[in-house]
Amino acid sequence: MLHVLTLMLSALAAAPQAAPAANTEVIGSSVRGTPIRAFRVGPARARVKLLVVGSVHGDEPAGRAIVARLRRSAPPRGTALWLIPDLNPDGHAAGSRQNANGVDLNRNFPYRWQADGGPFDTYHSGSGPASEPETQALARFVERVRPRVTLWYHQALRIVVRSTGDAQLERLYSRRSGLPREGLPRYHGTAVGWQNRRFPGDTAFVVELHGGQPPRAYVARHARAALALARAVAPQPVTSKPIPFGARRKAEMRAYARRHYGIDDHRLRRPRVIVEHHTATSTFAPVFNTFASDAPDVELGELPGVCAHFVIDRDGSVYRLVPTSIMCRHTVGLNWTAIGIEHVGTSDGQVLGNPRQMRASLRLTRSLQGRHGIRTRNVIGHAESLSSRFHRERVARLRTQTHGDMGPASMDRYRRLLGRLPAPGSMR
Ligand SMILES: [Zn+2]
Repeated sequence: MLHVLTLMLSALAAAPQAAPAANTEVIGSSVRGTPIRAFRVGPARARVKLLVVGSVHGDEPAGRAIVARLRRSAPPRGTALWLIPDLNPDGHAAGSRQNANGVDLNRNFPYRWQADGGPFDTYHSGSGPASEPETQALARFVERVRPRVTLWYHQALRIVVRSTGDAQLERLYSRRSGLPREGLPRYHGTAVGWQNRRFPGDTAFVVELHGGQPPRAYVARHARAALALARAVAPQPVTSKPIPFGARRKAEMRAYARRHYGIDDHRLRRPRVIVEHHTATSTFAPVFNTFASDAPDVELGELPGVCAHFVIDRDGSVYRLVPTSIMCRHTVGLNWTAIGIEHVGTSDGQVLGNPRQMRASLRLTRSLQGRHGIRTRNVIGHAESLSSRFHRERVARLRTQTHGDMGPASMDRYRRLLGRLPAPGSMR
């Protein structure tokens, strides 16, 4: 039997971990020397990190209660929350917006910084970009931890503030929290502006809470909204179940790539296309056996045998059969640049009508888009292969060869559903 390595045991991306592992770090100190702390909830080696900053303006403390609540939460598998209750302890102690130098820290960040006012003026931006120790501490922390998503709590405009990051994540937070999503003027030197500029692909945005002390239910609702973000970007469980792809099969793949594409390589470099298929079977086992066998295919009689990089079973389980760094024979004309995803099922409708399989499929496709920079219009069905701008085939009799699985109508719907997920970069 083949070795089956289960990378992530649970089929449920959102399953909470048994016990949250907490960890504390001092990330720097304020002007007056007060330590600024960050708390981690979830494993240090989690692939996806989220950061929540409870308060940056000393007179806007409400987010600290949400952060305190999140410290007792269990983030979804594969994610860790980093929590900074208070980036401005001096301002908090003094009840002032600014830090002890009279600087609005949210105008002090080193992107689009602009001189503004003097000490303790409302928007005083400091003596220069990132002049303040609190700003420096946060910037260092973000550079090191690379949070995929960062939430900054402020008061008291009662909105989710539109940023240049992932709009879907802001919409998700807006829906879950009940706060409308709205734009604000593009201020200079903000933390969010700097983060979104410095790490495009990652998302930072501001949530403006209500004024005053937040009631318990309000705190709970916002904590749930923050966890919903974590679930949305949590890595998907993928079971590695490799088919044999040894030296002989690689040589066969290389010969195939030479014949059909004029490429002297078995490796898949820079994939530009994802092709969705269905297997025309109702179970996974025969699919695996066919792909594993490396026998000439019944249709064209060529080697290596056909395969796909991923197979998604009816229950939503995702199996990786071949690394995406190797070419697989799944779509004539596109194998040189396409990742292949098979869905166990006998028709497009059966696949599209299966919510668990579709959820897994969309998540997998979105994360592959994010990892490889593949555009949604290049996520195609097998039946759409001939119209792809990446289609190429040197063997004349095969130039119009395609299959009927996953046709344009099904794929239009599929691509629309993809667009409802977070941006590819958020799920990479
Ligand atoms: Zn197909």
